[in-house]
Amino acid sequence: MEGCLTKRVLVLNRLWQAVNVIGSKRAFSLLSQEHARVIHSIDDDFHVLQFTEWVDYSITQHSSDGWDCVRTVRWEIRVPKILLLSHYDRLPMKEVKFTRQSLFERDNFTCQYCRKTFPQKNLNLDHVIPRERGGKTTWENIVTSCLRCNGRKGNRLPHEASMRLVRKPQRPKYRPFINFVLGSDLDESWLNFLNLPKNKLRQVG
Ligand SMILES: [Zn+2]
Repeated sequence: MEGCLTKRVLVLNRLWQAVNVIGSKRAFSLLSQEHARVIHSIDDDFHVLQFTEWVDYSITQHSSDGWDCVRTVRWEIRVPKILLLSHYDRLPMKEVKFTRQSLFERDNFTCQYCRKTFPQKNLNLDHVIPRERGGKTTWENIVTSCLRCNGRKGNRLPHEASMRLVRKPQRPKYRPFINFVLGSDLDESWLNFLNLPKNKLRQVG
C-alpha cells in the first residue's frame, strides 16, 4: 500500500468511548486482523462496517471525494476516520513511553507542588524521593515541578521541605488523550465522541 499513511484515526472502545488516536497504518492492521471495525458517518447516522465491507464501499465510491485513500495494487481504499474496537479486553493501546514529555503531559504541565501551570521551558522533573536516597526514576517517583519549587525542595523529601504533592504520581494508562488530540487537526466526525470543554471545541472548530 502507498498513500497518506500518516493520517490519524480515532479509536473507540466497545462502549463507543474515545480511547486513542492511531496512525492509519496501524488502523489498517487492526482492521485486517478483525480487531476493529470502521465507524462511518452518513448524514449523522453511524454505520459500523467490517473491513471487507469498508473495502467494498471504498471501491464503489468512484472519486475519493476529499477522503484520504491508500492505494493497493488494484484498489483505492479510503482511510477510515474512526474505528470501533471489537474486543474490550484487547485494547491495542500502546503503553505510554516514559519520557520527559509524557511526564509533563501526565501532570498537565502543572507543578505538582504549587499547582501552577508553566510553559515547558520553565518546568523540571523532580524525584520525589531523591536519587541520593534510593529514589527511582519511575512514573511513581517523578513529578513535574516548576524551577522554583524544584530549587526549594532540593535533595529533600517533600515533608522535609514543608511541601506537599498535589496528587500521588502514577503510571498513566494510555497516552494522555486530550493533549494529543488538540495538537493538530481534528476531524469533524470525531467531535461526537470527544468530551471536550466548550472553549477547546471552539479552537478546534
Ligand atoms: Zn511549583
